[in-house]
Amino acid sequence: MVSLYAASKKIYPRSVEGIFAYWRWIFVVLTQLIFYGLPWVEWGTRQAVLFDLTSRRFYIFNLVLYPQDFIYLTGLLVISALALFLFTAVAGRLWCGYACPQTVYSEIFLWIERKIEGDRSARIRLDDADFSLEKLVKKCYKHIIWIFFSIWTGFTFVGYFTPIRELVMEFFLTKMSAWELFWVFFYAFATYGNAGFMREQICKYMCPYARFQSAMFDNDTLIVTYDAQRGEPRGPRAKSVDPVALNLGACVDCTLCVQVCPTGIDIRDGLQYECIGCGACADVCDTVMDKLGYAKGLVRYSTQNAIDNQWTSKQMWQRLMRPRIQIYALILLAVTLSLFVSLGLRTPFKVDVVRDRSTLSRITENGTLENVYRLQIMNASEHVQNYRLRVKGLPNIQITTESLVKVEPAQARWIVLSADIPYGSASAGSHKIEFEIQAVDTQDVVVEKSVFIVPR
Ligand code: SF4
Ligand code: SF4
Repeated sequence: MVSLYAASKKIYPRSVEGIFAYWRWIFVVLTQLIFYGLPWVEWGTRQAVLFDLTSRRFYIFNLVLYPQDFIYLTGLLVISALALFLFTAVAGRLWCGYACPQTVYSEIFLWIERKIEGDRSARIRLDDADFSLEKLVKKCYKHIIWIFFSIWTGFTFVGYFTPIRELVMEFFLTKMSAWELFWVFFYAFATYGNAGFMREQICKYMCPYARFQSAMFDNDTLIVTYDAQRGEPRGPRAKSVDPVALNLGACVDCTLCVQVCPTGIDIRDGLQYECIGCGACADVCDTVMDKLGYAKGLVRYSTQNAIDNQWTSKQMWQRLMRPRIQIYALILLAVTLSLFVSLGLRTPFKVDVVRDRSTLSRITENGTLENVYRLQIMNASEHVQNYRLRVKGLPNIQITTESLVKVEPAQARWIVLSADIPYGSASAGSHKIEFEIQAVDTQDVVVEKSVFIVPR
């Protein structure tokens, strides 16, 4: 029986220090400070960032967004996609190598693993060793910390949808709802599984971005590359020996670049779709070059053109601002500015006017002709607001019900509104009219169109 599938080999990435590892940890700390810290930040009397699905309100610091504001979410997604295109065209898989949750959580889980089981060789030895008390203790200890960390992550995730302080109380009083429990454990399970076990397999087999990223690369995109012209022929040698005399390149074939790679590939085989651009191989190779007294950068961020044509760094960076990058950057800037301007100009209330079809036009006791409307005002601010209502579009048209409406903070209120005109002042048929709703405090105005029906 021949299996068509190769069994996946466990990867034991070796720890590495260097400039790129340093930047990755900066991103790990920054992203996690934001993720774990944000739900605890208070804004006035509420959580600063809260996506309250039950009441369909999304609070982001000063902003209160409603489902009707989904256009802003669309804008945010467009900005994210454009930023991804731009950064990928400039420097390949920057997102994957430094800020993607899969990388960030794998890095944290790996750090815990190293602290308990040791670095690469110690972990390999431990896994190969027969069952022992030491092995059991170390494995249990690691998994307990992983599980605790995963549950905390799941808890934080749910804290973006349910006020996290209430969630803590519910947890201690064992009153969490079934849905809250489900999402805490589902997210925890995904974190535990993806960062603890799946790791590089998510990047290799599940992440769609790995598949289409090559479409965004060109020969001037910065990628982690091995300088084969300098490195080959590879081979071991003593530090004191001149490699030229042995007809050797700079690569000593120490395989450290393979040992530190989180996806287990050999960068010396060229650009591969499994490479997440983390720069770990560049860091470790620099330490090897340092020890041998060779120039750093045998494995480095470079471009295909720079490697092929032996460009200097200056020539390479000059090609960075090529037309494609300028166009991406301009579009990104324009969309980002539009989003912020539109958010800044957004009126903090919304209005819906519906003609009340159950009540036909009627002649009132005063001899006027009346139409009835249902009007919904949503106060998207966090203060009580009074709204003044006016109507225009027909001669002498006026509102005969209350024209000053009070709406509580972040609430919506339906009101029934009557408008009338002097009988006989308009011809039979449907006439376009406009309701003007003005916030008394801020003077913001929203105009809603409707029709006034005059029967035959
Ligand atoms: S770390 Fe550098 S010297 Fe060692 S095998 Fe990799 S490329 Fe060659
Ligand atoms: S080849 Fe280098 S840059 Fe690519 S994933 Fe492996 S270590 Fe990271």
